[in-house]
Amino acid sequence: MKGYWGRILSIDLSDSTITEITPDEKLYRDYLGGSGIGARLLFDITGPDTDPLGPDNPIIWMTGPFTGTKVPTSGRHQITSRSPLTGIFGESDAGGRFGTTLKRSGWDGLIVRGMSDTPVIIVIKDDKVAIEPAGDLWGKDTFHTDEQMKERFGPSCETSCIGAAGERLVPISCIGHDGANARMSGRCGFGAVMGSKKLKAVAVIGNREPEIADPERLMAQQKKMVPIIVEKTKGIHLLGTAGGTAAAEKMGDLPVQNWRRGNWPDAEKITGQVMADTILKKNYYCASCPIGCGRDVEIADGRWAGVRGAGPEYETLGIMGGSCLVNDMEAITYAADLCNRHGVDTIEAGSAVAMTMECFEHGLLTAEDLDGISAEWGSAEALVALTGKICMGEGAGKLLGLGVAGMTKMIPGSDKFAIHVKGLTLPAHDPRCFSTMAVGYATSNRGACHLTGATYFFEKTAVMPEFGYEKPRPRYTEGGEGIMNFHAQNLMGLMDSLKMCKFTIYGGVNVTEICEWYEAVTGIKTSVKEMALAGERIFNLKRLYNVRLGLSRKEDGLPERILTTPRNDEGTGNYTPVLEPMLDEYYEIRGWDRDGIPKRETVERLGLDQKYF
Ligand code: SF4
Repeated sequence: MKGYWGRILSIDLSDSTITEITPDEKLYRDYLGGSGIGARLLFDITGPDTDPLGPDNPIIWMTGPFTGTKVPTSGRHQITSRSPLTGIFGESDAGGRFGTTLKRSGWDGLIVRGMSDTPVIIVIKDDKVAIEPAGDLWGKDTFHTDEQMKERFGPSCETSCIGAAGERLVPISCIGHDGANARMSGRCGFGAVMGSKKLKAVAVIGNREPEIADPERLMAQQKKMVPIIVEKTKGIHLLGTAGGTAAAEKMGDLPVQNWRRGNWPDAEKITGQVMADTILKKNYYCASCPIGCGRDVEIADGRWAGVRGAGPEYETLGIMGGSCLVNDMEAITYAADLCNRHGVDTIEAGSAVAMTMECFEHGLLTAEDLDGISAEWGSAEALVALTGKICMGEGAGKLLGLGVAGMTKMIPGSDKFAIHVKGLTLPAHDPRCFSTMAVGYATSNRGACHLTGATYFFEKTAVMPEFGYEKPRPRYTEGGEGIMNFHAQNLMGLMDSLKMCKFTIYGGVNVTEICEWYEAVTGIKTSVKEMALAGERIFNLKRLYNVRLGLSRKEDGLPERILTTPRNDEGTGNYTPVLEPMLDEYYEIRGWDRDGIPKRETVERLGLDQKYF
């Protein structure tokens, strides 16, 4: 099999056993890699009683066939585990260089189970694999840990690691890559899974190129597509994802004041252009990427001095800025830097702060409850102070670190201020602006996720011609939300499995190009239909994982505020999504029953009964 090594490393930290798994070729054909194989492994290894923070919950790093090749934006990997934040299926995609180096060390992926008694790191250098003590690194931040690994194992060493938040099992903690050029596996609380295993870091070193079936075809496709991608994504290159902040506010996409409002003129103060004019030093790229959306920023002096590293992305600015009404670019950058260093999801942290500000406004939380912090709307000081406490898991940070769903259990009467689906808070795209996102958030397998279907792409400028979307869908078109999500979720699942960045869709990439690359890399003949079917299989497997936990239609909801609060603002008018008919349409095309359970014939059609282990 070309494009894969055909072997996955498996490590049990309870007894330090290191084994090699050589899966059947059918696993690779059916689930492709990354997200698909990660989901299949998790499904087969865990059961409904698996404790997310117990030794039986594996944490799985998977690359895809494109990782480590020259396919544009393929420097990515997927982390999969049962989420300690939501209790359900969890996964997180990340860019950077870790995935590429893991693949080049000669492994398709890594499964870690068990628990060590003392802090350890896993070091993978080609076929040499070691579990080493990490007492000296415990307590250190992700930037420092990455530097230490490079010092110890050489500059080409790449690291997947946690900071203090993961060590302290903070439910909204995450995993960092690439040191100060941070690329985070942000969502689902996976920092705590590593922390529960006392696993500080995975360090990989390797420079073996996986064999490609048809390098000339790959090169020809690359020559054709890279200039198109570069041209069409110029805006992302120039201003990063933050370049979209002002436009998002005008359209009503930006969350404002914990999703109460649609417009907020201060959005002009936290744009990609403001970043470029003030703190931006240069941009940076994930491996094999011609776009380079990463922002390397520096705050050398002033109140928020001391930042040098990754600048905030749109999602962070939307939640820590718009949703908290904080209009100070440097303060948001400082808070995001704390999250990157200590390993915390900026979306969850910002949402927890926004909810705290609303609870504070209504007297449900006082300064006394918050270690003396006055959580007024728009307070940059409060944003940074509360974020710092979340990162260290101390004082009020213990409450906010639970995430918004967890906070409701501790603050009576706060349910309506907790904006989440299935325990995962909404990222910075509003279904009252892009109606297809209503079904997307409601049905995403890991909870509210903007990238599982990313249908807002296709209500803005992107198209999916292979699935009948020759032009972007006009906003507020009635009907078809479910069908668009079906196609888009299958497509995004493909990209997460083969490993490509979704921003290439803005660059003109679609399933036709994906098929070309898949054939060139693996030598396996495929078609749009077969690829779409693989995406559908992968999505349904994750759904079945959650069904096995007892989830059904009743969990496919949206926060009351999104469903019932029109914002009467420029950009979105009075629109609120009517979810139930959208779900009916969606379940039907998915082949699920009215409760959202995949029907027997759907499971059989997709070959999901197959046992692989
Ligand atoms: S566009 Fe940005 S996130 Fe995507 S691969 Fe390139 S640098 Fe990484």
